[in-house]
Amino acid sequence: MSKNKIGICPACGVKIVAGDKVLFSFGPPGTRSRLWARVCQFAKKPGCINQDKEAIGEINKLDYYGDPDELPLPEGKELPEPLPAVVSGMMGSKGK
Ligand SMILES: [Zn+2]
Repeated sequence: MSKNKIGICPACGVKIVAGDKVLFSFGPPGTRSRLWARVCQFAKKPGCINQDKEAIGEINKLDYYGDPDELPLPEGKELPEPLPAVVSGMMGSKGK
């Protein structure tokens, strides 16, 4: 894939512009590594245009951390603090 090309990952539905700038459906723009960390590594669908490790580059630890309503972290990664939405979701009940 050449640079300066706009691409939309058919698997994740995320737009990639200028080669490595990722426009998420919500929130601020990110990078390919962030997209991969949060979406593509979980999607693993055919047609995903963000599976090239060399294009993605090094995954920053911060790329994994996101808002509670985003995808959960991969196993083995610890959150700096509990995410209420995730916790309540796992508990399967409301109440404190
Ligand atoms: Zn993808």
